[in-house]
Amino acid sequence: MAHELSLLAHIAKIASGQSAAFPRVLLGPGDDCAAIATPRGDTLLLTVDQVIQGRHAPSPSRGWTSLNNAVDHLSRDELLNLYARKAVARSISDIAAMGGEPWCGLCSAALPADFPPDASRVLADAIHHWGQLWSCPIVGGDLAAFAPAHDGPLLISLSVIGLSHGSPVTRAGARVGDKVFVTGTIGGSLLANGLGRHLTFEPRVREGAFLRRELGPDLHAMIDVSDGLGLDASRLATASNVGIHLHAAQIPLSPGVREVAHAISDGEDYELLFCAPHAPASLGDTPITCIGEVVSGAGVALLGPGGQTLDVSKAGWEH
Ligand SMILES: [Mg+2]
Repeated sequence: MAHELSLLAHIAKIASGQSAAFPRVLLGPGDDCAAIATPRGDTLLLTVDQVIQGRHAPSPSRGWTSLNNAVDHLSRDELLNLYARKAVARSISDIAAMGGEPWCGLCSAALPADFPPDASRVLADAIHHWGQLWSCPIVGGDLAAFAPAHDGPLLISLSVIGLSHGSPVTRAGARVGDKVFVTGTIGGSLLANGLGRHLTFEPRVREGAFLRRELGPDLHAMIDVSDGLGLDASRLATASNVGIHLHAAQIPLSPGVREVAHAISDGEDYELLFCAPHAPASLGDTPITCIGEVVSGAGVALLGPGGQTLDVSKAGWEH
């Protein structure tokens, strides 16, 4: 969406009085999740995300009624499984970005008018499967089909409720002098045929919880990289009222990715970007790399090996 950033700013503005009117709203729109206080003192994390056919996942080349070769050699049902996986994983990734634990989810879907009933069952089974796998049971939802005269693409909306053990880790706490770290590797998540790691990534729940435990109050700010390392780093910098310097040579590129400038605007990496004075070098198989530092000022600058700088605050995908 071309105007996503200005719309998000507008929503943040109209919601800015919420916490005063409803003290249970600890955190409204503008972070990876909202945070809500319960009367017993727990903190719930709430998030919702969509997967829209043709936008967040490729369309089957022969439509949903044909079982074979939906994309390349992937069958229709294999493709539906990837839709379901991504829908669940995207929302869980937002819980991970706050250092939280997924607790349960709700799913609603809008189906194309000619969507076959057996495909609906495959989709429902797959959403249930991925929820179970990531300890996030899908406990309800809603299903509707487009009217033939007003048909639309397959659309899955997935809400997840999480638990925060202590204060949620927001985007707003980065301090000048912090180092900037990222889990995993960056770039190349979307292949030319529409498939790729953006459909098969592992949400970094374990890593988010580990960082929170390991670093405690030193974990100052965190976000998941959904729209591009440059754009998401800039969101974190803006929320924290600081600037960020990224070092091009230190950014861990995914296999086959050559250009840093391209990688940081690719998006859909779903890695965790966080700011802290220090961090462990890895968690199991997941590398953790220092890619820059927090500085005074604003925006995100990419520093090249020759000392040249590039403003990458807008390097990402608005959608
Ligand atoms: Mg996010």
